[in-house]
Amino acid sequence: MAEQRWIPETLFDPEGIRMSYAVERVIHETQTAHQHLVLFEHRTFGKMLMLDGATQVTTKDEFIYHEMMAHVPIFAHGKVRDVLIIGGGDCGIAEEVLKHKSVKRVTQVEIDASVIAFAKEHFPEFTRPVFADKRFESVIDDGMRFVGETDRRFDVIIVDSTDPQGPGAVLFTREFYARCKRCLNKGGILVTQNGVPFLQSGELTATVRHFRRLFKDAACTVAAIPTYVGGHMAMGYASDDTRLRQTSEKTIAARYKKAGRFSTKYWTPAVHRAAFALPRFIQELVDKANA
Ligand code: SAM
Repeated sequence: MAEQRWIPETLFDPEGIRMSYAVERVIHETQTAHQHLVLFEHRTFGKMLMLDGATQVTTKDEFIYHEMMAHVPIFAHGKVRDVLIIGGGDCGIAEEVLKHKSVKRVTQVEIDASVIAFAKEHFPEFTRPVFADKRFESVIDDGMRFVGETDRRFDVIIVDSTDPQGPGAVLFTREFYARCKRCLNKGGILVTQNGVPFLQSGELTATVRHFRRLFKDAACTVAAIPTYVGGHMAMGYASDDTRLRQTSEKTIAARYKKAGRFSTKYWTPAVHRAAFALPRFIQELVDKANA
């Protein structure tokens, strides 16, 4: 009887924390040009993708992060036509964004082509509807370079990056956020993957501090994602239109109705509003960064 293999998440080794997953079957494991990639079957979370020892996406809990990263900025804004996704190679966020029929164009800029090729084979539930949609455009490029050079402008920019290590490190810099701001239309919104504040407080504080220097409104939302170990996951939020974050639940519900009340498993108008109400220790991190 073959010994049970366990795959550890090594992201929090420095904190002395290691979550390990019992492997039912390794589907694919390789070193890409940019990072170590492993996809395996897990009895509770289904397919799990890890890059450089950090869980990226699982079939069972992906809906939480993907829905919040897509629907909060789009419904807060209310008139989104053009969306840019930086990273996001598994296409989970693009799939949620494309549920908004009012969105005319979605551009995804992913640095690692093998993550997309891989997702096409192993996450067809995301990639099939996305690549069948004429509004979707896939660009293979470094997000930092793209926002530095493009002459396109966007209503919402969603940074679905890896953690600030390897190719993802540059996506947590002031220069990158400044370039994102340059690419936003007036009143546009920037949202970012910002780690779990309980274990990665510096990541959130640093990002909000950068936002504070670049935008009139700098904040974050939170959600609990089982495989993003450490409690609340923070999603950075920035805009020059300070009213958007205050949009009432009634208005959000009316916009959702107008959008045809497409199916969601986590996001609701009430959850949207609640996600900006931060637990005190996270609010204090944001306030400190805003000071
Ligand atoms: N939701 C996941 C998380 O929270 O950790 C992220 C998922 S998504 C797969 C992350 C993607 O960012 C990866 O496919 C990675 O290749 C991509 N990425 C990392 N650095 C990048 C860069 N500089 N430009 C564009 N994409 C990048």
